[in-house]
Amino acid sequence: MQLINGKYHLDGVDLIELTQEFDTPVYVYSANKMAEQVDKLNKAFPGVKLGLHYACKALSNINVLRYMKKLGTGLDAVSIQEVWLGLKAGFEPDQILYTPNGVSMEEIDMAVKEGVKINIDNISILEQFGAKYGRKVPVCIRVNPHIMAGGNAKISTGHIDSKFGISYYQLRHVDRVVKLYDINVEGLHMHTGSDILDAEVFLRGAELLFEAAIDFKELKYMDFGSGFKVAYKENDITTDINDIGHQIAERFINFCSKYGKELELWFEPGKFLVSESGYFLVKTNVVKQTTSTMFAGVDSGLNHLIRPMLYDAYHKITNISNPSGVERIYAVVGYICETDTFGWDRKLNEVREGDILAFHNAGAYGISMASNYNSRFRPAEVLIIDGKAHLIRRRETIEDILNTQVDIKL
Ligand SMILES: *Cc1c(COP(=O)(O)O)cnc(C)c1O
Repeated sequence: MQLINGKYHLDGVDLIELTQEFDTPVYVYSANKMAEQVDKLNKAFPGVKLGLHYACKALSNINVLRYMKKLGTGLDAVSIQEVWLGLKAGFEPDQILYTPNGVSMEEIDMAVKEGVKINIDNISILEQFGAKYGRKVPVCIRVNPHIMAGGNAKISTGHIDSKFGISYYQLRHVDRVVKLYDINVEGLHMHTGSDILDAEVFLRGAELLFEAAIDFKELKYMDFGSGFKVAYKENDITTDINDIGHQIAERFINFCSKYGKELELWFEPGKFLVSESGYFLVKTNVVKQTTSTMFAGVDSGLNHLIRPMLYDAYHKITNISNPSGVERIYAVVGYICETDTFGWDRKLNEVREGDILAFHNAGAYGISMASNYNSRFRPAEVLIIDGKAHLIRRRETIEDILNTQVDIKL
C-alpha cells in the first residue's frame, strides 16, 4: 500500500475508490505481491530442484489458485475439497500434494482416485494404505521431528503433544510397515507449523529428516513444509529467506550426494505467499468514547477476520481515509455480539464515522477462516492484477445464508 498525493493505493488502484465501487467490508489482494513472493522463494535455494506447493488453505479463492498455477507453483491441499478446488483451477493431479490430518481411509481413497500425491500422517492409515494399494500408489510420509517452531503452541505443529505426523521415534515401526506391504515411499515430509523464528530450528528439523531419509531407498523428493514467517508488525523478526535458503540448499545438496541421487526439495508456503498481498477494508460505523476507552466500531468482526481473537494475532491497522489526521489512541472493535477486538491501543490518524480502516497482512487466513456468525454475510474479494481490480467473490446475500437450510414448514 502506498500513499500517493495523500491517497492510499495498492498497485496503482485508489483504495477509497475501490471501496466506493465494491462497498465494504472487502478483502483486496495484490497479485504482483504474490508473484514477488514466489520469485523470492524461487531464487533463495541455489543449485537445487525446487518444488513449491502453495498451501491453499491460507487463501482458497479459485482465482488465486489459478494465478499461483500461472506463477508455476503446485498445490498443497489439506482436504479432499481443496483437492477438488485445485483440479477445478486447472492443476494436474500430480501437481497436487494432499496432506490431510486425521481423515478417514474413505477420504484418502477419494484422493487416490483423483490421482493426486498422498501424504500419510499416521501409522494406522499407512497400514491400511499398504494393505490396499501395496506399491501401486506411491506415498509421502509426514514425519514429526518434535521441533518447536516459534512460541505459539496454537500454530505450531511439531512439538511433542502435537497431533500431526508420525513421530520421528516411530520410524523403526514405519520401516516394518513399509517393508511388510512393499510400500513405495517417494517422499518424506515435515511441517513444523507457522512462525519459525530462525534458521536454527528449521535446520535441526532438516537434519533429523535427512537422517531418517537414508533408510528410504525410493525417495524422489523431500518436503520441508512451511513456517516462513512474515512481518506483521514493524520490528517483527521474520524468516531471512535468502539466509535460510542458502543454508538448506547447501545441506540438501550434501545430503543428495550421500543418498546417491538428486532429489527435489519441496516447500508448501501459505502465509509467505499471500499474507502481505492482502488488505481487509472496513468502514467505521461508530466512534464511541467510554469512561476508559475510545472505541472505533467497524462494519466487520471476528466473523470476517478471526486471527486477533483466535491467536492474539496482531494486524496493523491504517485509517486510509484520513492520512494527515492527528494521531489518537483507539480500540478497534467489530460489530459481532460478543467481544471481538481487532486491536487495543492503536495509534491511528483521527478516526471519524465513515472512515475506511485497512487491516494489513490480511491475505492469509482472513476470508478462508470467515464464517456467517451472527448471520452476517461474508465479504467480497477483489484481486488487483496489473493495476486492474477484479471482483473475485461477490458479497453474500440472504439467499446464500438460507441456501443450505431446509424449510420444514412449521
Ligand atoms: C497450513 C499448512 C501449510 C502452510 O503454512 P503457512 O504458515 O501458511 O505457510 C503448509 N503445510 C501444511 C501441511 C499445512 O497444514
